Amino acid sequence: MDLLEQLVSYPLWDDDGKAALKLNKTQREAIKVFINKVNTGTYKYVKNPCLCGIDDEFTDVLIAQKDRYGIPCKNVLCMNCGLIRIKDRLDDDSTAAFYKNDYRNIYVGLDIATQDFFNSQMRRGEQFYSLISQHINISQIKTVFEVGCGAGGILNAFKQAGHLVSGCDFGEKYLAFGRLNGLTLYQGELSTQNTAEQSQDLIILSHVMEHFNTPIESLINITKFIKPEGYLFIEVPGIFNIPKAYENPLMYFQNAHVYNFHANFLKTLFKSMGLEVILSNETCSLLLKKPKDWSVPNIGRFLKASHSSCAEKVAISLKKYYLQHMLKINPTVYRKLFSFLLRKTGIKDIISTKK
Ligand SMILES: [Zn+2]
Repeated sequence: MDLLEQLVSYPLWDDDGKAALKLNKTQREAIKVFINKVNTGTYKYVKNPCLCGIDDEFTDVLIAQKDRYGIPCKNVLCMNCGLIRIKDRLDDDSTAAFYKNDYRNIYVGLDIATQDFFNSQMRRGEQFYSLISQHINISQIKTVFEVGCGAGGILNAFKQAGHLVSGCDFGEKYLAFGRLNGLTLYQGELSTQNTAEQSQDLIILSHVMEHFNTPIESLINITKFIKPEGYLFIEVPGIFNIPKAYENPLMYFQNAHVYNFHANFLKTLFKSMGLEVILSNETCSLLLKKPKDWSVPNIGRFLKASHSSCAEKVAISLKKYYLQHMLKINPTVYRKLFSFLLRKTGIKDIISTKK
């Protein structure tokens, strides 16, 4: 057993109901309402198998029994592929109701969009614009669509740069804010009722893919709406980006995140979907190109892929992130660690003998 193993053991967080962030009144109330819906059976859970196709509970390691809001949910790490997923997810009806009624109240603490929220989305849109411009000739992009656009601030950044934009989301009140700002947004999923297949030069999914119940099927469907030789830009919270993004690693875990990814898995996934990977990093920003002759791939080929070395890396990294955080917030851990190291190296015995 190595040093890290002895210092930190899984699960890193128990279900104690404590949140990792300060919640406002709307959020506290919304969390109670959500948990009540689960307890009374209004919302139902179903088993959530890993995307790699290994459906063996013995390969799962329980990482956290709650999320950053203190909501009970079992986050497990698949030791075959290194994905972290929630062991049980809301069924499809409950998921749709959750995004319509609970999501923004819990996650943003406001059931309507504000100018500040819209502006923060716009800043992110400007960052995406600049990143994408570094890799492709963005002047060739005419139509831009965003799946899960919220109030549409990201799209607005593209609109201001002269592109023709549209988007969809579940949250009606957030969409209404975007429409007031002149954006073309519709409620629901990306569908042929509102958007033609092969009509978009660029589709954006910003922090959306981790929310999908069946990401592979959803991504294949979304790709159908991209023009041949068009692009898909995806950003998800990368597992290995935790120390950069969050002071407390528990902040990474969210009950709405069905799957959590690392770059290696995503690259393999998109390649097997027949897409060309133009950009990929551990922030998990990916730019993908749809080839001229793209056809619906056989996803079965992908399901057998193994990334066990990545899984080992995730297992060790999470413990490191946890320990680094504990050392920062709780100096007594330093003393325990120091004492442990003294014992481990045998120095403590030498000191004791001398006494
Ligand atoms: Zn897996």
